Amino acid sequence: MIKVTIWNEYVHERQEGAAGDRIRAIYPNGIHALLKEKLAADDLEIRIASLDEPEQGLPDSLLNDTDVLLWWGHCAHAKVENELVDRIQARVLAGMGLIVLHSGHVSKIFRRMMGTSCTLHWREVGEKERLWVVAPNHPITQGVPETFTLPHSEMYGERFEIPDDGKIIFLSWFEGGNVFRSGVTFFRDNGKIFYFSPGHETYPIYHDENVLKVIGNAIRWAAPIQIIPPRKTQLPEPDETVYSKDPNKDIDTSSLHK
Ligand code: ZN
Repeated sequence: MIKVTIWNEYVHERQEGAAGDRIRAIYPNGIHALLKEKLAADDLEIRIASLDEPEQGLPDSLLNDTDVLLWWGHCAHAKVENELVDRIQARVLAGMGLIVLHSGHVSKIFRRMMGTSCTLHWREVGEKERLWVVAPNHPITQGVPETFTLPHSEMYGERFEIPDDGKIIFLSWFEGGNVFRSGVTFFRDNGKIFYFSPGHETYPIYHDENVLKVIGNAIRWAAPIQIIPPRKTQLPEPDETVYSKDPNKDIDTSSLHK
């Protein structure tokens, strides 16, 4: 069983007024609850967590029992404690998979793992998005058609400020002409990371079968083979004999500055 935790800031779905009503019609119990329901499978043990819970939803007892963490956030990125970001980062470096969705591109944890600003162009006019598989032999694209469309999406466009060591899995084209690296994988120490951009809260994107297939595949790809705790890195005793070994050896520097 892969232990999956779906974390959602869970703010937009609870806002008052017409905007909140529109989102609640799509995600009555939150994006995280809908994803849990839609991704349910015999090989997955799925838990959900949100920002308003104790320890912002991720106490060590849950985080350290998580194989793959999904992250959805938008308007509350700044409220996530740096101490939590430290703990998640350490867990990813040890081997936990991390799947960052949509506006999580500027979450503290994604920026921390990337080391870049992760900014992009965006526009919210409900235009069509067409995704293309560019890595057909990758585990994340199995069972996904070569191309599929989302009738209404928020435009995310290049330049996307992510490091160039990412492997591009999906490319998106938008009705307005923009293009975007919409699915990208990274390795950080022992952890696997997948960023997947579709998922704006006012469109029913996490009801789409292709999108769900991608996320389900990504969970299984990102699951750790093993969790590797921090290493002791100093090796004072070599495995082979070092004949010149002498920590107090004087180095002749007299000729260096002539
Ligand atoms: Zn959005």
